[in-house]
Amino acid sequence: MNFNHEPDGFHYEGIIIRPPSEAYSILIQVTLGCSHNKCTFCGTYKNKRFAIKPDEIIQQDLAFAKKYCRRQDRVFLMDGDALILPQKKLTWILDQIQKELPWVKRVGLYANRKSISAKSDEELAELKAKGLGIVYYGVESGDDDVLTAIRKGSTNAKLVLEGRRIIEAGIKLSVTVLLGIGGPQRSLEHARATGDLLSRLDPDYVGALTVSVIPGTPLADDMAAGKWSPLEPSKILVELKELINATDLSHGMFLSNHASNYLPLKIQYPRDKAEALKVIDAALAGKVPLRPEWLRAL
Ligand code: SF4
Repeated sequence: MNFNHEPDGFHYEGIIIRPPSEAYSILIQVTLGCSHNKCTFCGTYKNKRFAIKPDEIIQQDLAFAKKYCRRQDRVFLMDGDALILPQKKLTWILDQIQKELPWVKRVGLYANRKSISAKSDEELAELKAKGLGIVYYGVESGDDDVLTAIRKGSTNAKLVLEGRRIIEAGIKLSVTVLLGIGGPQRSLEHARATGDLLSRLDPDYVGALTVSVIPGTPLADDMAAGKWSPLEPSKILVELKELINATDLSHGMFLSNHASNYLPLKIQYPRDKAEALKVIDAALAGKVPLRPEWLRAL
């Protein structure tokens, strides 16, 4: 087991990830892995068995943050779906953050359909009252065929229903979608259905990533077996254009500036939608350079 137990450091186990917007946050690992851990493209937690970390370890990490992280005013709770924690444990963690790190203004975590549906509306409201300010929600696609193929464990309708409950609780919602995950066969259906899902969710932020094939994942096996293939960059752009065209948000920010993408965009909806479509057309015509393959990263 890779157990990093420095006497005066955070107790991180294995690979840890956080959203790009949490780059300067205090990262506290409260669970290990992901309770779902079945998505075919995701290799992040394949070698980690899901577990909840003990109170004493979390307390020690908060004590470390209290000493050394006084200039960071956000906390991100890891790993892959920390919302799955039992309500009592999660509210205890939020209480401890308020007590030990009173300068912290926002707490965020990852969630999936399963972890949101395990909470009642009252529980979500309680989490909001105790400082949970943002939920990062990976939906990947709005296309039910794609969702089944990637073993997301949900449907378009359920993803919208559960995501809306976060917004109704007053918590900010940041949604991730995955360009290219439908392969060439379902590229445009994936784009249109995902745009439809985003329009009905109407989140605060959308992050569009481009799928990368991680060795050892079921997606890599599907590719080797010829059941799935990646899109070439120009087809990813066509898909992105279709997605933006099909997405109507009342206020949100749509970002495709993740390192995995070929064309970084920052679109404030609804204001910038038409301009963004023009930029994609220019990129398709070769007038805007794309990020080269070697600069793309997860
Ligand atoms: S729910 Fe998220 S963390 Fe879990 S397997 Fe799927 S993509 Fe990975």
